[in-house]
Amino acid sequence: MELFEVIEGKAKILVPKAESIYDSPVFYNPRMALNRDVVVLLLKVLKPKIVLDALSATGIRGIRFALETPAEEIWLNDISMEAYELMKRNVTLNFPGELKEGENRAFLEGEKRIVINNNDANRLMAEKHRYFHFIDLDPFGSPMEFLDTALRSVKRKGILGVTATDGAPLCGAHPKACLRKYLAVPLRGELCHEVGTRILVGVIARYAAKYDLGIEVLLAYYKDHYFRAFVRLRDGAKKGDESLENLGYIYFDEKTGKFEIERGFLPTRPNAYGPVWLGPLKNEDVVEEMFKLVKSGVELAKPREALKLLHMLHEELDVPLFYDTHAIGKRIKIETKKLGEIIKALQEKGYKATRTHFSPTGIKTDAPYEVFVDVMRKL
Ligand code: SAM
Repeated sequence: MELFEVIEGKAKILVPKAESIYDSPVFYNPRMALNRDVVVLLLKVLKPKIVLDALSATGIRGIRFALETPAEEIWLNDISMEAYELMKRNVTLNFPGELKEGENRAFLEGEKRIVINNNDANRLMAEKHRYFHFIDLDPFGSPMEFLDTALRSVKRKGILGVTATDGAPLCGAHPKACLRKYLAVPLRGELCHEVGTRILVGVIARYAAKYDLGIEVLLAYYKDHYFRAFVRLRDGAKKGDESLENLGYIYFDEKTGKFEIERGFLPTRPNAYGPVWLGPLKNEDVVEEMFKLVKSGVELAKPREALKLLHMLHEELDVPLFYDTHAIGKRIKIETKKLGEIIKALQEKGYKATRTHFSPTGIKTDAPYEVFVDVMRKL
């Protein structure tokens, strides 16, 4: 394969030349640089020592963990032999020293310990039981086939990062696929990105619970057609129970855009969407630290985009769901006013209100639907 050099963050890697990224023998998507920036920021803040990039492709993610975060032992893994060969080349491009080759595994012992592995991610994670402080799952499409093993391979107080790029199931375009993969009923329409994010977090909580593990969401968000969730495991049956208490359902009225949420393991009414995670989507302190790092000018691949995203996530009111001004305006046949004006009017009435990263026309608020509509009408 013909290769060319790419610089991303502090890493320099070789990437196959291809007509499109999906034709490439080893996958590299430059548009996911921001996704990698965000995880680099998280690892800089939380400082896990032993980390795994379970589906590594070119190795870019793991190499960036090694170059840009305090991680001390970094594992890169891919099932593809071509990816394995390229990961080894890319590691030696970025770190001095000689690779020690084993069977399907190569090591570089330097200031940091880097392990490059060629195996099914589930096999590797099963082998390394409760070993990693942090695991990142960044597969093609759904992460579900790797979730269970990852929950056993990460330490009981470890951190798990999950990316899902299968927007069609999570956003309700393929509801049956969502049932099969995520065991949840998705909601189509303006709330789908947030509901998809909450379905993803909800299924992590449900899978974790059987190991007597709870979850704390460090950050969960939607961006550029992918869903991202970082959770910290909380050890103990009680923590598992507590996290299940954050599960619940959404009822949505198509005619008005009004939603209701209901906590509980089972819905009490028909036409419920979920189960979804109804707890927080961020740990305020962690997100604040990440935001401060970006503001301080730390080296990243996409510093401007990272600043914009972290600023938005930092400011965003952390309550379930939002009102989409355009969709509701259309439904109740009133002209949509400027987002800033509606937010100000709600705040003047004593409610909390912010923009949301889930929709450029959405407002998160603790105001009831009727108040929100009244504000829209009177402006
Ligand atoms: N994380 C990479 C990045 O940030 O550039 C991109 C990973 S790419 C989306 C998914 C990778 O998973 C592919 O390289 C593919 O070969 C690998 N893969 C697919 N199934 C796998 C499995 N069962 N075990 C390990 N790797 C697998």
